[in-house]
Amino acid sequence: MPAGERGEVWADRRGAAKIHSGRTYASQREFLRNTAGALCAGVGFTGFAAAVPLPGLLGNEVRRMAGTKGLKITKVEVYALSVPLKEPFTISLGTMTAAENVLVRIHTDGGLVGVGECSPFIFIDGQTQKMVFNLARDVAKVLVGKDALAVDARLAEIERAAPGNSTMKSAYDLALFDLLGKAAGLPLWVLLGGGGQQDLHTDLTISINTPEVMARKARELLAQGFTKVKTKVGRATELDVAAIRAIREAVGPSVPIQVDANQGWDVPTALRTLEALAQYDVMYCEEPIRRGDLDGLRYVREHSPIPIMADESVFDHKDAFRIAALGAADYFNIKLSKSGGIANALRITAIADAAAMKCQVGCMQETRLALTALAHVAAAKSCIIFYDLDSALFHAEDPVVGGLVYGERGSVKLPDGPGIGADVDPAFLRRMEKVTV
Ligand SMILES: [Mg+2]
Repeated sequence: MPAGERGEVWADRRGAAKIHSGRTYASQREFLRNTAGALCAGVGFTGFAAAVPLPGLLGNEVRRMAGTKGLKITKVEVYALSVPLKEPFTISLGTMTAAENVLVRIHTDGGLVGVGECSPFIFIDGQTQKMVFNLARDVAKVLVGKDALAVDARLAEIERAAPGNSTMKSAYDLALFDLLGKAAGLPLWVLLGGGGQQDLHTDLTISINTPEVMARKARELLAQGFTKVKTKVGRATELDVAAIRAIREAVGPSVPIQVDANQGWDVPTALRTLEALAQYDVMYCEEPIRRGDLDGLRYVREHSPIPIMADESVFDHKDAFRIAALGAADYFNIKLSKSGGIANALRITAIADAAAMKCQVGCMQETRLALTALAHVAAAKSCIIFYDLDSALFHAEDPVVGGLVYGERGSVKLPDGPGIGADVDPAFLRRMEKVTV
């Protein structure tokens, strides 16, 4: 893209200079200081936040389109939604054997039902299914009797009732956005202003194992049609380097490899390992060091030959704001269970746009229901360029009806129906623990 054209991004981390709107800067940090200094000063936030279609504005528009005063919430059902994995999955933080999620179904007087799912992930958010199930049940009563289309107000009430707990909130956020789409008769990606960014395709993540097994898995996923390899790392340098060397030898020179350390290294180990991995042409590394050390993360980013993606470090838009202002990462990884749902995911994309950063969408252990909601967001936002939508491919059972469809070469096709366009099979739900408020 020629200098001077708006919308230039930090596409080449290893490039000597970065260009944005006709000016050249030596680093993203310098760019932020000079062009988005307001970011660092903590002012001027409203300018770009106003560009985001926030739920309050959407709700008013849907109300106008539907000619309705609103949708009154009559009851809320909360389910423990459990699905076993095909085989154990290991990352640097631990091993899991099942998706232990929570589903909420918000009923309204108009007959419409909004569905939302979240995926607690104890290693990352400190939450379990039981904790989130109980909390979702306790919070449900603040919603009953209220207008479901006033999404911003409902989310603010949930925040007041239970500060934090982004995982639980994401289930309600998804269900409210689902209702918004259903009331408007529009698929969520249309409602969010998308158009044309429909070419979604997921990777398939390789779990930590021996280099031989990881290389075999890489060959298998290429044989299945996937076009890139994302793999877990975050162990001792020698083990990680042996694994990536084996994978690179197995897949050949042209297949992109992305790695995710899940906070497994300290700063010296991260720099040593990333330096050693650079020869295998790694596209980027997610979350190299323990979450919470943003100065350390910035140091790693400034000295790493491989671009850095913040994942566990960026739960919501407030984290994204700090990381962008510090220049502590090249990319954000957006997950709905971390952000608290779609509203905050949109706010993260606004910050990414303001800081000329790009994003990935990623998952915990969601079924295709929450993955479909995430795919709608990805289809609506051009700053999202990487798609890690694979959790449902690890599940031994698929309880979702409708929703995204996996196709050739990891392609992901969105449903045409209004809202998220997915629900959980009622026969499957009858086997699950449930409470109605
Ligand atoms: Mg990650």
